[in-house]
Amino acid sequence: MQIILLGMPGAGKGTQAAQVRDEFGIPHISTGDMFRAAIAAETPLGLEVKEYLDSGKLVPDELTIRVVNERLSQDDANKGFLLDGFPRTLAQAQALDESLAKMGRTLDTALYIHVPQEVLLARLTGRRICKSCGTTYHLVFQPPVEAGVCDKCAGELYQRSDDTEEAVKTRLEQYSQTAPLVDYYRNQGVLQQVDGQQPIDKVYSQVRSILLKLQV
Ligand code: ADP
Ligand code: ADP
Ligand code: ZN
Repeated sequence: MQIILLGMPGAGKGTQAAQVRDEFGIPHISTGDMFRAAIAAETPLGLEVKEYLDSGKLVPDELTIRVVNERLSQDDANKGFLLDGFPRTLAQAQALDESLAKMGRTLDTALYIHVPQEVLLARLTGRRICKSCGTTYHLVFQPPVEAGVCDKCAGELYQRSDDTEEAVKTRLEQYSQTAPLVDYYRNQGVLQQVDGQQPIDKVYSQVRSILLKLQV
């Protein structure tokens, strides 16, 4: 299965991706997670992308495409992958098409998690993430059993430095570069839209039934 997830920041891509990974056993490849890991480890890539993530601007296409192509060439991506947060520009979408063609594969579906913009600020400012295992929580919509502590691994929860009102504003502006991808994939005949404003488990049952149909 080759799947991509589209949606505005805070639409629920990462939350749904984690469940798909667990149930369908395909790697969850998140460019945002890869960049944040590089920043935390202070690698050359991390140093290069830090200012983009901090401000909420998109990392340049060339660099992003290189990182994704390297990741897709790793063994575990042989059985398929779920891309979360990539592509985010038309140039990235075209580069992905080229890479897939080289690998002799095709995209099965572009899952577009649609939410009205009004709900995003509350989702993003309330988002908390486990430092150890990366599980995503929300202070109100998906709280951990014990405040500040991960249910799965007892790790410490933190707030992303770009989940502030100011960076969120920039990220929503940057989404104008991503919005055209909805039509791009609709024209390819692979777009599937999911209503992301429902509770998390309802959204997942929609996602799941789309993916189960693909497997037949
Ligand atoms: P969100 O979950 O809020 O949609 P991500 O974790 O996907 O955010 O991305 C965080 C940041 O990482 C973005 O604001 C951007 O700076 C950078 N980034 C992630 N994916 C891409 C991409 N495909 N192209 C360019 N920049 C990206
Ligand atoms: P994205 O990866 O698209 O930026 P996330 O999956 O990180 O979005 O979700 C953003 C925040 O909203 C997280 O705190 C998450 O717990 C919460 N969230 C995700 N899906 C829903 C939903 N369907 N209803 C309410 N809150 C949600
Ligand atoms: Zn954890």
